[in-house]
Amino acid sequence: MRRARVLMPGGVSSPVRAFAAVGGEPPVFTAGHGCRLIDADGREYIDHVLAYGPLILGHGHPAVRSALAARLPLGTAYGGPTILEVELAERVVAAVRSIEMVRFVNSGTEATMSALRLARAATGRDRVVKCAGGYHGHADLLLVEAGSGVATLGIPGSPGVPEAAVRDTLVVPYNDAAAVEELLAAEGDRVAAVIVEPVAGNMGCVPPRPGYLEALRELTARHGALLVFDEVMTGFRVAYGGAQELYGVTPDLTCLGKVIGGGLLVGAYGGPVALMERVAPSGPVYQAGTLSGNPLAMAAGCATLDELRDGAAYARLEALGGRLAAGLAAAAEERGLPCAVNRVGSMLTPFLGVVEVGDYAGARAADPALFRTVHAAWLAGGVFWPPSQYEAGFLSIAHGDAEVDRTVEVFATALAGDGSRGR
Ligand SMILES: *Cc1c(COP(=O)(O)O)cnc(C)c1O
Repeated sequence: MRRARVLMPGGVSSPVRAFAAVGGEPPVFTAGHGCRLIDADGREYIDHVLAYGPLILGHGHPAVRSALAARLPLGTAYGGPTILEVELAERVVAAVRSIEMVRFVNSGTEATMSALRLARAATGRDRVVKCAGGYHGHADLLLVEAGSGVATLGIPGSPGVPEAAVRDTLVVPYNDAAAVEELLAAEGDRVAAVIVEPVAGNMGCVPPRPGYLEALRELTARHGALLVFDEVMTGFRVAYGGAQELYGVTPDLTCLGKVIGGGLLVGAYGGPVALMERVAPSGPVYQAGTLSGNPLAMAAGCATLDELRDGAAYARLEALGGRLAAGLAAAAEERGLPCAVNRVGSMLTPFLGVVEVGDYAGARAADPALFRTVHAAWLAGGVFWPPSQYEAGFLSIAHGDAEVDRTVEVFATALAGDGSRGR
């Protein structure tokens, strides 16, 4: 890290990795196997970060490894169409009910940025509505009251984002349909899209309240705005067909990333043919990418989805997630500590010191000192949890009951020995 910090800002390639919110040195990783990471000192960690979501099969799953091994001798980029794009597109279209046609990009940021460009073009409107604490990547127009690293660093947005770039970005609280109703009543004819994480994951995990997503669907349709589900985290994570399958609400456009790349660099956005055919070269909405549809990334994505398709993986992830959430909640209760354990399937967050979290304001009420204590204990006890209260923890099919129980045990010990109250 000493070498890294003089060469790269914070010594990292993405801010949360620097451990600013929890302090101390981040481990420097050399390998990942199954549900474990290994650092440069040879220490092993049970991994609940899982690359911030992509590694639903764990590290180095045999199916992903052999798909990549088979592709490696055949070259790494072609600058032209390949059958592998078709194969991943077929899987995505079959799985995600809102998607009839898809465009592959290289990150979640590109997916949301491009989907909103398309939404603005299709509606002829400029305004975009997002939720406080919602994170949709780091494109200028979406860096307003953002979650993830922006929330972790406690900054409102970012210098370098011109006022003009965010003038048309409107912010509402998550899980508050009345706020959207009011906003659209006033501004509805100028709003191109409402973009939302159907299960918020970047303020920590916050599930939608019953009826919330349905209300967004109805309100956007009523006002001629598009509903964009940012399923970069939830797609193929909370269910094979994403949150839209789990909750039975179909958006106009869907953004994907993380799991669909199987640990390589893939994002995607998709929707009905009539909308997607507005994208170049079929239509005038420009969007391109030198390495988009990369054969290695497509192959890793296909291999990952094929392991998930039969649904057994989700049953297993649900059982593991339930065990972990119940264990954390019981440990907190035993010590008389309020702790809202929010969970959808294999993504979850214990919000320490609060009884309920339904939005970003609620997430921010959690106790940061206690989170630091628990995080440090986890790290010392061989458990790698995201170094921020505003990130979801994950499970993979490579985790087992023993690892989950170890994570709970260290959590319980940290609370028992907690010297952080009032610090
Ligand atoms: C991770 C994430 C993004 C950004 O994806 P990158 O690949 O980091 O650009 C966007 N939206 C959501 C919901 C995410 O979780």
